[in-house]
Amino acid sequence: MTARILDGIKIRDEILAELKEEVSRLAAEGVRPGLAAVLVGENPASQLYVKSKVAACEQLGMASWLHTPAANATTEYLLQLVDDLNRDDNVDGILVQLPLPAQVDSKRVLEAVSPAKDVDGFHPVSMGRLVSNRPGLVACTPAGCMEILRRNNIPIEGANAVVLGRSDIVGKPMALLLLHGNATVTICHSKSRELPEIIRRADILVAAIGRAGFVQADWIKPAAAGRPGASVIDVGTNRVSDPAEAESLLRNFPQRLEKFRAKGNVLIGDVHPDAANTAGALSPVPGGVGPMTITMLMSNTVKAATLRRLAGKASVKAGPASAAR
Ligand code: NAP
Repeated sequence: MTARILDGIKIRDEILAELKEEVSRLAAEGVRPGLAAVLVGENPASQLYVKSKVAACEQLGMASWLHTPAANATTEYLLQLVDDLNRDDNVDGILVQLPLPAQVDSKRVLEAVSPAKDVDGFHPVSMGRLVSNRPGLVACTPAGCMEILRRNNIPIEGANAVVLGRSDIVGKPMALLLLHGNATVTICHSKSRELPEIIRRADILVAAIGRAGFVQADWIKPAAAGRPGASVIDVGTNRVSDPAEAESLLRNFPQRLEKFRAKGNVLIGDVHPDAANTAGALSPVPGGVGPMTITMLMSNTVKAATLRRLAGKASVKAGPASAAR
């Protein structure tokens, strides 16, 4: 393996340590940042995500509240709950765990969240602020990818950056963040032609499509005289349980293959594992972008508390990890 590994766990720990200090500073000013999570129904994966988010708040000394409406909750019920949380001065961030049940108008519920408390960064006002490069709350996963790039000193200005995927929560905000970092950005999607050629020009590749091992190792720009190979941020989290697929993807990684055989499934990114031998730097899956998402949610909550509660005071500093924007 020749690529430099972009270790998300190490960066997570750095940012959490910075946030802990920030939370103590805020406590000295009488502010305890707080996150309210809304978890509708009993989806086991969502329960697990929300549990980790609440645990992260506790670890940092932040307040947290968990609201668990039943699976048959109506749009009106959730709108009322969000309205109550918007009005609650102790609540700095509101997280509505997705997906919501089919009977709920998810867009209406998400748009009811006050933009000042929109720690997921999904609200159209937050997106609008990002488009026009104004301070605001940015979607956690792309913000985490920027932290990985910046904290590994990967040059963004002037770089050719390719973002593979154009979802509202990853691809689009990612492309905007890179653009504001003065990269030359190309956004690709399922209708893009000549993907290998486009990707081969990338100094920075962010892959977020949800297809295990889709980006082939020989699509990645290799090192050449005087410059390193491409920096690859792999956002994809794809659970592979088909033995033939796992054997093919992990043919050069006998230890991972052993683990797959013992466990019956393995987490694979959108980039083929063999890219570890062509890329200059690579965020692994697992252990790359994954640990950053909850971290940036914590960072956004601290930032939201600072902006909303201390605006105008001399001490305002919008959170340590807010350097992403
Ligand atoms: P999404 O909403 O399903 O969007 C997928 C995007 O990929 C779409 O823009 C789609 O194009 C594009 N796409 C799909 N197949 C393609 C192909 N064969 N060639 C080129 N483009 C293709 O997914 P998402 O929410 O952005 O998530 C993407 C991946 O990131 C998933 O694996 C997800 O699990 C992972 N993820 C990880 C984290 C984390 O914390 N690590 C957080 C969020 C997401 P069209 O627009 O043309 O359909």
